Amino acid sequence: MDKKERARKIKMILMDVDGTLTDGTLLVLPDGEELKTYNVKDGTGILLAHLAGLKTGIITGKISKSLEKRAEKLKIFEVYQGILDKKRILEKILDKNKLNFDQIAYIGDDIGDLEVIKAVGLAGAVADAHPEVKKYSHFICSISGGKGAVREFIEFILEAQDKWSIIKAKFNNLTDLRDISEKREP
Ligand SMILES: [Mg+2]
Repeated sequence: MDKKERARKIKMILMDVDGTLTDGTLLVLPDGEELKTYNVKDGTGILLAHLAGLKTGIITGKISKSLEKRAEKLKIFEVYQGILDKKRILEKILDKNKLNFDQIAYIGDDIGDLEVIKAVGLAGAVADAHPEVKKYSHFICSISGGKGAVREFIEFILEAQDKWSIIKAKFNNLTDLRDISEKREP
């Protein structure tokens, strides 16, 4: 099956965080709190996926407050932090959402993602992913982690599902981004 055919079946997009939604840089404060930067292109990509009726989720090994805020703001559907066995969480997500492996896309960058990458219908690797991750991925981004790779992956899926032009138009007609990105303040 080619990657486009795989992409047509996708109902949910799962993502790794460090090295995928970020460039892997951690700014460690004296109190141990870790700060990271996210790319607005990926944020928009996630909103586009939601507009297309796809669900999104995060499975990350680390735990951070900033991620919690980012995920909340983008209305990311499934958020699992501090996870070492990502495959087990993947199975939990499938069960909860009544989906099968073929309907899941996952994008990652490092060997901790391998078991999930080997299991899902459509696996993506950021441009600077570990060679092993690239080896088992169906879609290799031309963009590195934290620079819009997730956006590239999402657009590929939307394009394969023939949703891209509709979603673009829908996005451009939004009068208020907060309708899909965050709750309006009272
Ligand atoms: Mg990673």
